[in-house]
Amino acid sequence: MTQSIADRHQDIRDAVRALCSQFPAEYHRKIDEARGYPEEFVDALTKAGWMAALIPEEYGGSGLGLAEASVIMEEINRAGGNSGACHGQMYNMNTLVRHGSEEQRQRYLPKIATGELRLQSMAVTEPTTGTDTTKIKTTAVKKGDRYVINGQKVWISRVQHSDLMILLARTTPLSEVKKKSEGLSIFIVDIKGAMKSGMQVRPILNMVNHETNELFFDNLEIPAENLIGEEGQGFKYILTGLNAERVLIAAECIGDGYWFTDKVVQYAKERVVFGRPIGQNQGVQFPIAEAFIELEAANLMRFEACRLYDTKQACGAQANMAKYLAAKASWEAANACIQFHGGFGFACEYDVERKFRETRLYQVAPISTNLILSYVAEHVLGLPRSF
Ligand SMILES: Cc1cc2nc3c(=O)[nH]c(=O)nc-3n(C[C@H](O)[C@H](O)[C@H](O)COP(=O)(O)OP(=O)(O)OC[C@H]3O[C@@H](n4cnc5c(N)ncnc54)[C@H](O)[C@@H]3O)c2cc1C
Repeated sequence: MTQSIADRHQDIRDAVRALCSQFPAEYHRKIDEARGYPEEFVDALTKAGWMAALIPEEYGGSGLGLAEASVIMEEINRAGGNSGACHGQMYNMNTLVRHGSEEQRQRYLPKIATGELRLQSMAVTEPTTGTDTTKIKTTAVKKGDRYVINGQKVWISRVQHSDLMILLARTTPLSEVKKKSEGLSIFIVDIKGAMKSGMQVRPILNMVNHETNELFFDNLEIPAENLIGEEGQGFKYILTGLNAERVLIAAECIGDGYWFTDKVVQYAKERVVFGRPIGQNQGVQFPIAEAFIELEAANLMRFEACRLYDTKQACGAQANMAKYLAAKASWEAANACIQFHGGFGFACEYDVERKFRETRLYQVAPISTNLILSYVAEHVLGLPRSF
């Protein structure tokens, strides 16, 4: 396995690699073919404590930072797996830890740490508003000691393999707030309870083996005590989760990227055509070298974003830039890997086509490349707002 100049936390890497080695490529390939969920793998990660990395020690977790959590996710992808099955718990955790009440932390965190509960889902995206998040139409209206939820979400992942979900809904109409980011609130939803009383789940089959769904809310009632933080401030809180998500996805792309470069380097050394290894041709070497250079740069930006996040400093720009760089680098590595495997790149048993599909997602989700460019143009470079 190639060593990166940016690699840190070697003890965590070694331990996660040891666990991942019990789940070889064949395991992930079979799960992909069956469109299944890697239950045994996620259980093993939970039992080993990795899924509780971000839970403070006093609630039964290991109290690690986002940097360490990102290394765990990276190693899963670097070993040929797909963290998409379980990364929700990592990016949701700080939303609850940082903005939840003491009562909420006591109620949920110890059970999440033991694996009794899973907090794998976050419901933000809606079909009619897309990336324009502050325009979401799902409403939460307070009635006595409950909130009544109505509306629709789309692309909400891992709902069928989670117990809890963080839901973003509008509590004050857009027309009544001064800033469009105000009047939004976040809630903890008990998924199984909700499915019996007003939340319908419709799975969406998609290009990757990623369990994701459309959700329909029809007068779903949730206890008012499930509101996280202050009513109307939810957009600010959800950014804690979204920034963490961008950094974690960056780490996963970096893991994918090194998997692709390792795999293609090995293949290009062995595959002999025209009497010499294909990797002796500069036309083969250069795209691989270019992807590797970009991965190394992305890796440094990812750790800078982690440093800022873990020290509670503004990290929006770095989280976005790390995600942009890493998703681009992993995609270039994926292209080089499939290209230089020739026909074999398309054979499922080589795992290249599966990883190729998986890493392609990150050009679009959790935020599209264009939206990152527009964030940097406006918020970092001070160019006029375009929408
Ligand atoms: C497999 C999968 C899993 C997902 N999981 C979750 C989840 O768990 N929870 C959740 O809330 N969401 C989830 N999402 C949703 C994801 O975050 C969105 O798909 C993503 O943010 C893009 O939003 P959209 O699909 O509505 O695209 P749109 O907002 O409709 O944009 C479409 C495209 O248009 C372009 N575009 C749009 N506006 C502009 C602009 N102003 N300037 C330039 N270009 C623009 C972009 O290139 C974009 O890719 C998931 C999506 C997928 C595919």
